[in-house]
Amino acid sequence: MPGTCPKCGLPEELCMCQAIAKEEQRIKVRIETRKWGREVTLIMGINPKEVDLVSLTTKLKNKCACGGTSKDGVIELQGDHRQRIKDLLLAEGYDSSNINIQ
Ligand SMILES: [Zn+2]
Repeated sequence: MPGTCPKCGLPEELCMCQAIAKEEQRIKVRIETRKWGREVTLIMGINPKEVDLVSLTTKLKNKCACGGTSKDGVIELQGDHRQRIKDLLLAEGYDSSNINIQ
């Protein structure tokens, strides 16, 4: 059946699974320095089985106007985006008390 959530069986427009899953993610954000002193922002703790990490990565890259990837449940954005990342995650429906910026 098209447009039905496989988890709760409701039509996608009524399904709250993604919204609930987002609020429950415990997100850690930290900076890592790579070769040549290049900084990357790592966003960890999001369960890729519950949240579409690829589309979240694409949105964050667009908002931060930077490059980035997602791999093994970790989103990596080029540059230091700690200042903005919390607001961007809140706008996406994540819960501020579960976002830990280091
Ligand atoms: Zn659902």
